[in-house]
Amino acid sequence: MGTVYLVGAGPGAADLMTLRAVRLLGEADIVFHDALVPAPILALAARAEKVPVGKRCGRRSTAQRFINKRLADAARRHRIVVRLKGGDPMVFGRAHEELSYLRARGVRVAVVPGVTAALAAAAEMGVSFTRRGAARSISLVTPRQGAGEAPNGWVRAVLAADTSAIYMGAGDAAAIAQALLDGGQRASTPVAIVESASLPEVRTVYGTLEVLPALAAQIGGGPALIVLGEVLSEAVSAAERATGRKAQAR
Ligand code: SAH
Repeated sequence: MGTVYLVGAGPGAADLMTLRAVRLLGEADIVFHDALVPAPILALAARAEKVPVGKRCGRRSTAQRFINKRLADAARRHRIVVRLKGGDPMVFGRAHEELSYLRARGVRVAVVPGVTAALAAAAEMGVSFTRRGAARSISLVTPRQGAGEAPNGWVRAVLAADTSAIYMGAGDAAAIAQALLDGGQRASTPVAIVESASLPEVRTVYGTLEVLPALAAQIGGGPALIVLGEVLSEAVSAAERATGRKAQAR
């Protein structure tokens, strides 16, 4: 019986992975990976069979059960099984479902952390999310919820934190901005959207909450994170100076 490793692939750049992640990829017999994991990272699993397990929309729970089962089956046939996930496996990565399924079947399982998107975005912007005097708390949230799940408290979490990172939200920017404004977040709150953090095609746009939908329209189709908070105020002012105008709501 082998071991299943839930491994964080980090935000995209291969050299942001941990040494442990790289070693396990090199030793892996089989790697089950998300659709978004870049080719240079997969190439590190030179001798492994590589199995993409990107989830199809609308069939999430079925797909997750299928992945769980494949991981358990693989552990019976192989010594080192890697389940490779973007960023950190424990942050919006459905790690709990895989961990509990495998543990319930007596499969050895271990987790290897990775750089989560929020921290890669902070690095790209050169902005500390816990800047002394301005921010003492960070909220990692997503407005996404599975079918049948109760609405989650993401708006409350954003309102309560000094700095917030919103995962899986760039495609719903208008609804997100509205929900936050309705909740009482100031329209002038500085925001940024960071797309493809750590990758050569990285793109960052800055503005305020009231123009968030217009900002979202400026980015492309890569993975993108919305960041909110006063720690961004200097970066927003600098971007406004650079474009010679205040970002206009459309
Ligand atoms: N486990 C991952 C998050 C998975 S949810 C982590 O820890 O980062 C997927 C979301 O992560 C995307 O919708 C996007 O909001 C964010 N994301 C992942 N990679 C990113 C990147 N390179 N740049 C910006 N956002 C990213």
